[in-house]
Amino acid sequence: MKRILPLLILFSVCMVAKTGPDFDKYFVNKTMRIDYYFTGIKGETTISLDQVKEEPVWAGSMANLVDTLNYGNHKVEIFDKETGTLIFSKGFSSLFQEWQTTDEAIDSIYRTISASVLIPFPKKPIKFVHYSRNRQGQFEAEFSADIDPNSRFVNRDKPLGNYKRKAYMQNGSPNDKIDILLLPEGYTKKEMRKFRQDVKHFMSVLFDAPPFNSYKDRFNVWYLEVPSEESGIDNPREGIFVKSAFNLSYNSFDSDRYILAFDNKRIRDIAANAPYDQLYFIVNSDKYGGGGIYNLYSTCYSHDAKEENSWWPDYVFVHEFGHAFGGLADEYYTSQVSYNEFYPLDVEPWEPNVTPNADPKTIKWRQFIEPETPVPTPWDKQLFDKIPYKNQEERYQLLRKQKYWGKVGAFEGSGYVSEGQYRPYLDCKMFSKSLVDFCPVCQNSIIRVIKFYTEK
Ligand SMILES: [Zn+2]
Repeated sequence: MKRILPLLILFSVCMVAKTGPDFDKYFVNKTMRIDYYFTGIKGETTISLDQVKEEPVWAGSMANLVDTLNYGNHKVEIFDKETGTLIFSKGFSSLFQEWQTTDEAIDSIYRTISASVLIPFPKKPIKFVHYSRNRQGQFEAEFSADIDPNSRFVNRDKPLGNYKRKAYMQNGSPNDKIDILLLPEGYTKKEMRKFRQDVKHFMSVLFDAPPFNSYKDRFNVWYLEVPSEESGIDNPREGIFVKSAFNLSYNSFDSDRYILAFDNKRIRDIAANAPYDQLYFIVNSDKYGGGGIYNLYSTCYSHDAKEENSWWPDYVFVHEFGHAFGGLADEYYTSQVSYNEFYPLDVEPWEPNVTPNADPKTIKWRQFIEPETPVPTPWDKQLFDKIPYKNQEERYQLLRKQKYWGKVGAFEGSGYVSEGQYRPYLDCKMFSKSLVDFCPVCQNSIIRVIKFYTEK
């Protein structure tokens, strides 16, 4: 026994230390950007490689290289070609996958949308494998390519525009922190002062919101002062088209308040001037809108036209970051969206805060549910549904009066559908248009993501 014990200890130490691939063995501290195109219609996707680019510094973790979160509609896996070892993976979502749920995709109009994957720059040839979730939610390999990082086919152009990165908040090395890069959209040169004020404002809003307030020191915040030729952004329903820096637009996927950007390569070429894990566009406009896609980017309008609605952008800003950073789903179901069967009722979504499964024994957030709380959890849904969407205060008062206010349960109505999908809490930043906090399940997801990127 005496001889076995030290061996066992040694073995367990090795197990702890060996949590993933060794960064220095496989990578150098730069970024490889793989640009590709999604083409297709609903139920049909073709992926084609566009180019491979070298970018400065790697902003992601050097310790956690293999993604254990299992979030996103897609993931990439990078294998060392010689040994077949998995050396990096990451989950994310795409504009294309979201577009596939719109009427346009169902009407069989083929579209092509550009996308990029950022990985640490490999030392030796790799195999790049791209996966998308099938209807049942399982990842299926869709595309793969062998890439030689030392080849002359790697584009080594410098970042576009030579913009000097400015630090709003710097708490440490980009490898140990989550780097948010704020980009100004629709701010002219003369309006850059306003952009800097907006940066200050939104960062105080974000880092006041739980759980971000408790983890502020895990983040760096950078911004680039990229001027637009004209002020504001496109608003197609009003016939307004603006020469703005990143070509963002309202009415994305024909949803008036949805602000997205499709000019992926231009955005990436400019963003490469700073290290980033998360891109956030602050849009110089007073018209309500925003958007957020997991591990792609977030957008939010800068200020509201009406004084009484001056807090609306604050709500949008943090809500969209909940999507893009925390992998959170919308918990609301009473507001207009342009999706068809976004969350099928017979499939468990990967998002942590929506589920069609209201079985108390297996519901995915059961660890947060107290034994006294019935699942599904009763609430005055019929009464709530009669109150018009715009009467937010009345809706809020009704929610507050419910027996299970403040308890985690399974409340019917979530993920854009009224029946068959459940949310964990009566109210949450992903449910109502208000300054209410994220619910405990959403906060837990955000904390999980923060820890994944910042802990060893
Ligand atoms: Zn929530």
